[in-house]
Amino acid sequence: MSRLVIVANRVPNPRERGATAGGLAVALKDAMSRREAMWFGWSGQTAEATATEPSINTQGKLTYATLDLGREDYRRYYQGFANATLWPTLHYRLGLALFQRADYAGYRAVNAAFATALAPLLRPDDLVWTHDFHLFPFGAELRRLGCRQRQGFFLHIPFPPFGLFSALPKAEELLADLAAYDVIGVQTEDDAANLRGALVAVGQAEAAERVAAFPVGIDAEAFRKLAERAMDRADTRRFSQSLVGRDLVIGVDRLDYTKGLPQRFAGYAQLLARFKAHHGKVTYLQVAPVSRGDVAQYRSLRRELDEWVGRINGQHAEPDWAPLRYMTRAVPRPTLAGFMRIARVGLVTPLRDGMNLVAKEYVAAQDPADPGVLLLSRFAGAAPQLPGAVLVNPLDPDAIAEALDAALSMPKEERVARWEAMRPAVWEAGARAWGRDFLAALEA
Ligand code: ADP
Repeated sequence: MSRLVIVANRVPNPRERGATAGGLAVALKDAMSRREAMWFGWSGQTAEATATEPSINTQGKLTYATLDLGREDYRRYYQGFANATLWPTLHYRLGLALFQRADYAGYRAVNAAFATALAPLLRPDDLVWTHDFHLFPFGAELRRLGCRQRQGFFLHIPFPPFGLFSALPKAEELLADLAAYDVIGVQTEDDAANLRGALVAVGQAEAAERVAAFPVGIDAEAFRKLAERAMDRADTRRFSQSLVGRDLVIGVDRLDYTKGLPQRFAGYAQLLARFKAHHGKVTYLQVAPVSRGDVAQYRSLRRELDEWVGRINGQHAEPDWAPLRYMTRAVPRPTLAGFMRIARVGLVTPLRDGMNLVAKEYVAAQDPADPGVLLLSRFAGAAPQLPGAVLVNPLDPDAIAEALDAALSMPKEERVARWEAMRPAVWEAGARAWGRDFLAALEA
């Protein structure tokens, strides 16, 4: 069986296993346990200059090969072109996208440097699977160095219609580079149609035929167990008692402008103002750990949310009731799973999201006998897979308020029926199936 080489911006820490490992590590666990494998990418550390020789750590059949990034490369490639240009553009937010040629040059230079560092480590029959928007040109750089291995690419975030994407300077170059990959995976059929359209528009009709949707999933059974066991944890019990019988609405997102948090808070404020029956009867917990805090748009979003929290609690609170609880730090996964199980409503309203795993985790965490309601953005990649969710337009606070009212008032039979409708997709289209399906396509 040929070796699997996974190329990703961030390589998981070899010491992080099980519940702390990232989604990608979980998805590939099966594939990697059966064959020799290598993780290749950024170490997460910065240095004076980008390393040319990877540092290598081998544990049995698994090798980690990582490079430190130079500080200037970190600024141009990672903070700049990846996070401040591609991230907003691919999430349909052209107005937030900053473009600087020097950032793009840094992005290309890092992709080329990574390819130069990986090429001598490759064996002729390796399968090379590259991940996400940081590494569009990586496969083409490997080809320029003469590497003939089969190469796959998976884009974890959305791909917008060509009319929008083409506003990005260098859009054509990035699309042409994708033609180096033998399989090009995206999350949804919409993303696949958009990317095919873009490739055809720039004369890459043959590459367009290699595009297919592979929706990412979670390890639902593991998350269900985590949530069930969390019912005996002291932190879950303390939190549950603090609700004194009030219904819980939960939101769990990185603090990111794609997650629709201001509109969500506006929707909750509308609920409190328009649907008085919920006054004093509902608590909304939003967990939003700070992410990319060194990028300007994220700092201003944080201030905006701080204001919302003050305004909502200031206007609606009672001495013994705060309608909104807000935390900007990460919460351990077992705690999070327990909180999700307790919540009557999971509020997941990104303006755009490649998939959104929180939506699937919320479903997996529920008690089948008395499940909560998933209120989900129609613009999350998960939406077409989760027919039992209450779908909302995340840009419409009035619609969010109405959907919240409906979810909080929903009878148990309907909650059970909706949950049952989502169970198959969450359990069967899981993390491992995703890894297996993509690799099958790559090997075919
Ligand atoms: P994104 O990849 O854009 O952050 P996803 O919803 O696809 O969005 O994945 C987020 C992952 O991070 C989920 O597994 C979720 O449980 C986890 N996560 C999000 N917020 C927190 C938090 N506050 N504490 C711990 N884990 C979190």
